[in-house]
Amino acid sequence: MAAWKKELGWVLLLLLGVVVIGNLTGLFIPLLFLLIVGMLVWQIIQINRFERWISNGGRGKYPKAKGIWEDIYYHVYQIKKSEKKRKKKLGKIIDQFRKSTDALPDAAVVLGKEDEIEWANTAAKNVLGLQSSDRGQRIPNLIRFPIFVRYLKSSNFNETIIMPSPTNSHITLAVRVVSYGAGLRLLLAQDVTQLRKMEQMRKDFVANVSHELRTPLTVLKGYLETLQELDEPLPPLLTHSFQQMHEQTERMQYLVDDLLLLSNLETQPKKTHCVDIPTLLGKICKESENLHNSAGRIELSLETSAHIYGDEQELRSAFSNLLGNALKYSSKESSVKVRWFQIKESLVLDVVDKGEGISEAEIPRITERFYRIDVRRSNKVAGTGLGLAIVKHVLLRHDARLVITSELYKGSTFSCVFPLDRKC
Ligand code: ADP
Repeated sequence: MAAWKKELGWVLLLLLGVVVIGNLTGLFIPLLFLLIVGMLVWQIIQINRFERWISNGGRGKYPKAKGIWEDIYYHVYQIKKSEKKRKKKLGKIIDQFRKSTDALPDAAVVLGKEDEIEWANTAAKNVLGLQSSDRGQRIPNLIRFPIFVRYLKSSNFNETIIMPSPTNSHITLAVRVVSYGAGLRLLLAQDVTQLRKMEQMRKDFVANVSHELRTPLTVLKGYLETLQELDEPLPPLLTHSFQQMHEQTERMQYLVDDLLLLSNLETQPKKTHCVDIPTLLGKICKESENLHNSAGRIELSLETSAHIYGDEQELRSAFSNLLGNALKYSSKESSVKVRWFQIKESLVLDVVDKGEGISEAEIPRITERFYRIDVRRSNKVAGTGLGLAIVKHVLLRHDARLVITSELYKGSTFSCVFPLDRKC
């Protein structure tokens, strides 16, 4: 039987007793009063016992009780027991999580809404110099590198920043912030010293090789030109061979020049001054027409007279490459449009051709170094496969981006989009 029914049964039985005795003795009212007061006192004693047990944390076995109180004690005891079990399980998970994050070679720091440190792993202590006592402190007050402070303030966490370790300037860190939950952020810092060293070695190697190849190439080219210009007629086989050798050394020279230009773009500091783009485009169009035997093919449309801050030499290389490609990869009869204009927040240079076009799948790949579409198609046209890589690098150094739209056999548009704050 349910405990409450038992309890009710007892009350009714006592009441019946009071009615019978009350009728026999004529003391019904005082006996009823005594019964109610007695039951009230008994319940108060039970509540008091329960309150004492629960205020002690409900620890240990519950006190002995009767009726419905035994049930109450039992249920509360069970809830406490399962809560204890859950806590233990959670504690174990947290412990495992702590151990695994502590074993991570990368630094991890949980930041609150105000950039205050909520938790950090061991690597964060070693590599970022954070102490356990720094908990609750704002991280920009502890790591004061301007690039880091600006990054945290910007709230644009799509990119990774590179900065030295605050504990050891020989260690280079790649720092990234990931947002999660309600205003929480996870800061990750990876030691990229070795990677950066290898990257630097690659850059130095390419720059040195390109530089060292220049002199022997010039000597070879010189001798070949002298041999070709000899007064005595050469046998046809030799004439053909010299022609081939001359073409190949020329190709190598272009390759070396482009490689040197690329490595300069990667290593040289930026030089910025106000560049007169309309005048520069006028010059480049003329030069390109001459270089590619394409007189009258270029239509230059200057819709703005805007100048921009940048490096004239670098911009000249980028624009010449785009114009050269438009002329190279379209028929000699078709025209090429060059437009310099402003839209909303950008200044744009469009180079539009009606040439062979580029398939959608190839578009993301053509800016890779040495990538040339369908070697058979491209081999008909001289090139190094480095032109668009140079364009991409130059634009990157000018906070600009290259947008390519193209349709096979219809033509392509290469747009250089500069932010308006480059205007001068
Ligand atoms: P390349 O020296 O081969 O011209 P680029 O890096 O300038 O090297 O271009 C890479 C490839 O992209 C080229 O080989 C060519 O196939 C393709 N490409 C570049 N510009 C155009 C264009 N305007 N129209 C069609 N294809 C192009």
